[in-house]
Amino acid sequence: MNLVLMGLPGAGKGTQADKIVDKYGVPHISTGDMFRAAINDGTALGLQAKSFIDKGELVPDEVTIGIVRERLMKDDCQGGFLLDGFPRTVAQAEALEQILTDMNKQLDYVIHIQVDQEILIERLTGRRICKSCGAAYHLIFNPPSQPDVCDRCGGELYQRPDDNAETVQNRLQVNVKQTQPLLDFYQEKGYLRNINGQQDINQVFVDVDKLLGDLQE
Ligand SMILES: [Zn+2]
Repeated sequence: MNLVLMGLPGAGKGTQADKIVDKYGVPHISTGDMFRAAINDGTALGLQAKSFIDKGELVPDEVTIGIVRERLMKDDCQGGFLLDGFPRTVAQAEALEQILTDMNKQLDYVIHIQVDQEILIERLTGRRICKSCGAAYHLIFNPPSQPDVCDRCGGELYQRPDDNAETVQNRLQVNVKQTQPLLDFYQEKGYLRNINGQQDINQVFVDVDKLLGDLQE
């Protein structure tokens, strides 16, 4: 199964990726891991990527695409893969099509974990940290027993500036703008499968699993 996983921050992509890997044994290929591996292996492309990262610059598409190509050629991807964080743009998606064509393969599904923005904002702004001991809480997933008070030490809880509604909303907007053309591209190609990410985590995986089960028949 050749898969791409998509979803906005807070949509629960990481959890679903773990579950897919656990059940189906396909390698989870995230961009960060892929860059780190290429740099550790000291491949020519890895060294190029490193020179950009060290300067604090974005790694150019041709280097990123080269690293993806090398990664997908490895033995562990012959039975399938789960790409996460790549492609980010339509140009990269087209490059991926080319890579797969060259390998005599094609994508099966682009799994898009879909969650309304208001819910994502709730999830992404819910983190609270204790000023005294640093304990972390989440208003939805791990709430303190009294509002704004640390269960562990009684200290006052605060919200990091990075977690405030405005910052989170801006971050989401940027992501939505970036992602939409990609979703349209995959919709048109017929690969896109939208999964309702607003359900319980296990139910989300039931839906993902139904989709993947079909591939194995
Ligand atoms: Zn505390």
